[in-house]
Amino acid sequence: MPAERLRTVLQRIQNAADAAGRPVPALLAVSKTQPAAAVAALAAAGQAAFGENYVQEGAAKRAALAAAHPGLHWHLIGHLQSNKAAQAAEAFDWVQSVDRPGLVAALARHRAPQRGPLNVLIQVNVEGEAGKSGCRPEDLPALADRVADTPGLALRGLMSIPVPHPDPERRRPTFRRMRELFDGLAARHPGADTLSMGMSDDFAIAIAEGATLVRIGTALFGPRPR
Ligand SMILES: *Cc1c(COP(=O)(O)O)cnc(C)c1O
Repeated sequence: MPAERLRTVLQRIQNAADAAGRPVPALLAVSKTQPAAAVAALAAAGQAAFGENYVQEGAAKRAALAAAHPGLHWHLIGHLQSNKAAQAAEAFDWVQSVDRPGLVAALARHRAPQRGPLNVLIQVNVEGEAGKSGCRPEDLPALADRVADTPGLALRGLMSIPVPHPDPERRRPTFRRMRELFDGLAARHPGADTLSMGMSDDFAIAIAEGATLVRIGTALFGPRPR
């Protein structure tokens, strides 16, 4: 059944891209709270990129699956506390939630050179919602330059988690603004090729607005166990 769910989600992504006349985005399978066995089943069906919200949980799954599935890529998509930066730089291939200068040096310092650069997305809070993760749009250029200038890190693009308005259509302006910010970023930093936005209930809208990577949990794994 995991293979069937994966096929269905990939088909829905393709349909949304075709309908919008956009390139087909990559799929990140969000495996937070799912057991390693569920990740293994999806990996066996061909999915290679997985997203986790917590550093420790992601590191544990990576370790559990390393022998049987050595080719997996792990993305941290949850808020990163500074005191977890070292472990994050070791356990993950991508960190999508870089949102402040203090994380940049800490991640770079703990990235082993033989692993290659850590792929970084900058999380942006375009709605300016108080108490939410993400840098302000006006702080983005300086933070992007800092990531790009730091050895051991590769600036790959932007990530957004819109305010979860119950009507997903209300999230469209956020996706649209993110695409504008992304185009500006990519003009300055040619290595920036990834715009991460869209989840199970709004990925078609995000794709129509130009997402290049969608983060999908529930539609792939079913409801989360906790
Ligand atoms: C949980 C989560 C997702 C996936 O959400 P679903 O609605 O289960 O698809 C995507 N992105 C982030 C940042 C998340 O925390």
